[in-house]
Amino acid sequence: MSARTGILLVVSGPSGSGKTTLCRRLANDQLARYSISCTTRSPRPGEIDGEHYHFLSTAEFEAKLQAGEFLEHATVHGNFYGTLKSEVTRFLTDGVDVVMDIDIQGAAQIRDCDDEEIKRAVVDLFVMPPSREELLARLSGRGTDSQETIDLRMENALEEVASWPKYTYRLLSATPDEDYARFTALLSAERMKVNRMVD
Ligand code: 5GP
Repeated sequence: MSARTGILLVVSGPSGSGKTTLCRRLANDQLARYSISCTTRSPRPGEIDGEHYHFLSTAEFEAKLQAGEFLEHATVHGNFYGTLKSEVTRFLTDGVDVVMDIDIQGAAQIRDCDDEEIKRAVVDLFVMPPSREELLARLSGRGTDSQETIDLRMENALEEVASWPKYTYRLLSATPDEDYARFTALLSAERMKVNRMVD
């Protein structure tokens, strides 16, 4: 049986596209490891430090940035977000697939990264909301965000959607189960890629 290096599944899409649900479900099914990001935004009700995010102060985030600990980082909706190298690289070497839920700026940094291991591992996917109306309904229906936040996210979402052609794959969101079936099909196909086999 041949061993292989891990896949780095980079998933982007606007808030409300359903991408976080997809990524979390993959991790819950133990099909990939979820990369837990750092952020300076405040936790939403129910979010747990170290599980949903590593919630950091701006000073803590900047110290990690200075120390070169981030694989990528970006400012999203006025807060810092970043992926620690420690959440990703050693897992790929060990053949563990890692799924990242990151914005379009972070995905661009990962695509442009000159690390050969990362380049070989990356599979980038953009999750599209089915329509503008459905996106607004999803953003409003979350129930934890203020109207101002919803308006800002809707504006940003429409901007983000314009980036889908930069990705290798695009998933047009339908129902959570349909989305997940297509998501796992993509992962299955990528697992058969010869250039990841190590013997
Ligand atoms: P939220 O605050 O709703 O959890 O996430 C806001 C946006 O930040 C989402 O588009 C999410 O994908 C993105 N995001 C989360 N973690 C990271 C990260 O580590 N890096 C980057 N670049 N974006 C992230």
